Amino acid sequence: MKLIPKGSKLYSIIHLKCPRCHRGKFLQSPAYDMSKITRVRSHCEECDLNYKIEPSFYYGSMYVSYAVGVAIMIAIIGFFLIFPDEFSFLKTFITLVVVIVAGAPFINAVSKILWANLFFKYDPKK
Ligand SMILES: [Zn+2]
Repeated sequence: MKLIPKGSKLYSIIHLKCPRCHRGKFLQSPAYDMSKITRVRSHCEECDLNYKIEPSFYYGSMYVSYAVGVAIMIAIIGFFLIFPDEFSFLKTFITLVVVIVAGAPFINAVSKILWANLFFKYDPKK
């Protein structure tokens, strides 16, 4: 049994699947493939959805990426504030830099699929 059922946007986001059919892959390669870093496919291989509905469509995902990055930073700072014995500015700063830099490809991929999910709806018939 899957924890997140097909049909919810969260399924598409977590599995990086087509926002319409939830079966086709969204990216050309895994998020950490540095040769094709988070390149989006042109069409869904399952339902033929055009992922790029207009030129530069995924530029808007930069705003989502910023919000995701800030949310991660707030979560890290919140963690250190919850456990004050672990708190130091240097430790917090190093943790932030490592997590944001190491997670950048994944944050970028998640931002693009979040952006796509704002414009495409799930359609089980496709
Ligand atoms: Zn599809």
